[in-house]
Amino acid sequence: MIVKNDPLVSLRRSVYFDHDNRSQFARTDSRSVERLLSYTVRRAYEHTRFYRKSLRKHGLTPSKIDSLSLSDLPSLPITQKRELRENISDFLADDIHVITCGYTSGTTGARTPVYISAEEMEARILLRQISFKHSQPSNEVGIRFFGLQHGPELGNYWTFTIPVYFDPNVKPTVDSVINELGRSHLLGGHVRYPSSLAISSRPLRYLTGQMLERSIAPSSTSIRRVLNYGFYCSKAFRDFCLIQWKADVFDSYGLYEVYAAAVECELHGPKHFSSVAIPEVLDPATKTPIENGEGILTWTPLYPFQAAVPILRYWTNDLVRIETGSCRCGYVGPSIESILGRADYSFDFSAQIRDPTVPRVIGICDIIDEIEATTPLVSSRTETQPRGYGDLAPRFTVMRPDVTESEPVTIIISLEKFFDKTGSEMKNVGAKITNDLESKYERLSKKLGNPIYFDVKIVDRMTIQDPIMKA
Ligand SMILES: [Zn+2]
Repeated sequence: MIVKNDPLVSLRRSVYFDHDNRSQFARTDSRSVERLLSYTVRRAYEHTRFYRKSLRKHGLTPSKIDSLSLSDLPSLPITQKRELRENISDFLADDIHVITCGYTSGTTGARTPVYISAEEMEARILLRQISFKHSQPSNEVGIRFFGLQHGPELGNYWTFTIPVYFDPNVKPTVDSVINELGRSHLLGGHVRYPSSLAISSRPLRYLTGQMLERSIAPSSTSIRRVLNYGFYCSKAFRDFCLIQWKADVFDSYGLYEVYAAAVECELHGPKHFSSVAIPEVLDPATKTPIENGEGILTWTPLYPFQAAVPILRYWTNDLVRIETGSCRCGYVGPSIESILGRADYSFDFSAQIRDPTVPRVIGICDIIDEIEATTPLVSSRTETQPRGYGDLAPRFTVMRPDVTESEPVTIIISLEKFFDKTGSEMKNVGAKITNDLESKYERLSKKLGNPIYFDVKIVDRMTIQDPIMKA
């Protein structure tokens, strides 16, 4: 399939001139995704040094690229984070206008620059306009943090969105956010108050602490929906939002390097993929695509929504459990049933145990669930001192022994908010998390015929050298 016209040009045309919006961007059928894929790969080949070399090595010529179909995706090379980090200038396309640069949080080593071009910024804004037209009308007022560079699109409902800048180190931004929460808006002839917050879990904890300190109950605002992005959304975090804000949480998966998202179903089902990027879940060992079960998520973000740095089949190193089928909401296709966490910090037994009813992967997210269920998510003492968001949650690290040697999986946690507790209280917290994890994986231990031991220690935060801040 030969794509001659720049998809950005057709996107502009469809927004400004096609009032029915019957453009390829309003549909999510495989043919339109295929057209964008072919254009994306062709552009990567023609405009980046990295992919010209790598695609040639894989025997992909321009004519083969032009006739790519979705089923050919596994024949394209996988791109590793390390390759991107070490060769960023070779990934940068030579036909775009870079307007800004951000950095990944550096959770897996050095930080990677993320270049954003005028082209992709425009495409993301235009796509918003299309999805705005196609979504269900309502008068919901949302407050969204950050901008178009990071995070997924919001859910598929109509929201009048106020972008807000928020930084714990810049005190006036905290006051401004609290003011915005109570500001009235005239929408459709009615006075409305903000009812949904798009924010990641750590800034929300900080904001909650700040409000409590000012004697403002978060639940006294009109916020009833929290769209979580950026950090893992634990069960305790959902309860926290329900208690403190009386708000329902919708979780999403996204990352900075690729413009892609999977957003929790409106009916609280699994996370459905957005159509701006093609997801694949690959078997960790064979790297072949799977439709059900645990595997590594990879993304191919599509042009024009990602333009400055084309990336093909980006290996996120995040373990997810995927399911394919139809959802109660009408969505058909693959969805993320659960996020298990970074593969480097997880233990995958799916090769040894075939029974899918047994939890076969000890994911870092399961560990976070247990830590957050046992430790308070907000305490005024910790949250009043402005710092980076990273300090608002437990810092921890996991020592990875070879589990077959019956060594305990050692988890070292530091919690500054525990420094006013006694030594025995801290010990009890460690013991509770250890017990909970061991009982969670009892069935797995039995199947393996080898007990899995955990050892949770609570230490001073300065003694953790390589904390896991994000999962
Ligand atoms: Zn659904």
